[in-house]
Amino acid sequence: MTGPTRSPELTCDITYDRLIASCGLPRLEARALLEHCCAKSREWLVAHGDERVPTEQAQAFIQLAARRRDRQEPLAYLLGWREFHGRKFSVSAAVLIPRPETELLVDLAIQIAAPQARLLDLGTGSGCIAITIACERMDLKIIATDRSPEALAQARSNAEHLCPDRLAGNRLEFRIGDWWQSIANEERFDLIISNPPYIAAADPHLGIGDLRFEPPGALASGDDGLDSLRTICAGAPSRLNDSGTLLVEHGYDQAPAVQVLMRKAGLDAVRTVKDAAGLDRITIGTWRQSA
Ligand code: GLN
Repeated sequence: MTGPTRSPELTCDITYDRLIASCGLPRLEARALLEHCCAKSREWLVAHGDERVPTEQAQAFIQLAARRRDRQEPLAYLLGWREFHGRKFSVSAAVLIPRPETELLVDLAIQIAAPQARLLDLGTGSGCIAITIACERMDLKIIATDRSPEALAQARSNAEHLCPDRLAGNRLEFRIGDWWQSIANEERFDLIISNPPYIAAADPHLGIGDLRFEPPGALASGDDGLDSLRTICAGAPSRLNDSGTLLVEHGYDQAPAVQVLMRKAGLDAVRTVKDAAGLDRITIGTWRQSA
């Protein structure tokens, strides 16, 4: 006669603290994964570290921890979200993981946009740029595009969670299309903003870390990484209102090339802004009809 069978949700023989310490991941990452698998807060895990983990949750954690440790899959994809500018954005492997340097692009757009301005975000991905601006500037009308239906679905779902009123009121609109494809000939904007793919196709960084798992089309753009930036800079003047601004993110060594592209397109007052690491990251140009 054996004892009662253990149901799968019974605890296994390991505590929260021990699971974190033994999984072979940096503590912060292990904690984040365990919070996710157990649906518990950081505070709860600290207070209950010596308790035993329910078996199913421990198993889920062990699997995710192995994917992080052995395959180095991006933490953001394993958790399903990444924080950007103080908000939690859902991310799947269909979208680029939001980067801290892109927060500067958002801050500049928020500073530059005049009241009631019309803004276009090209290649929105998770929607982090357009949605953050929509949350912080209720007066703007924002159109965000992407050529990937999966990315656009992710962006829409983020908007439904983070700014449903802006979406419902049609003050934030998502359109499918590659770069200028979904923009009508007569449409004009006061601000055009983009974090396009800008890595050179043969750049060895594409084979390292998180970049191996991100959508290649959101990272790389031609032999010199500038194909998308060429299309964006060349097309901006005919879509900008007088005194409208183009604002683009680019690689740390691409500022001179992007400045040339903007000037060639006829943009004026072209300047580059450095990111928090002191690297050239964003270039800005203004369209003056009379110039
Ligand atoms: N900033 C990203 C990186 O270098 C690239 C994203 C992009 O191409 N926009 O990791």
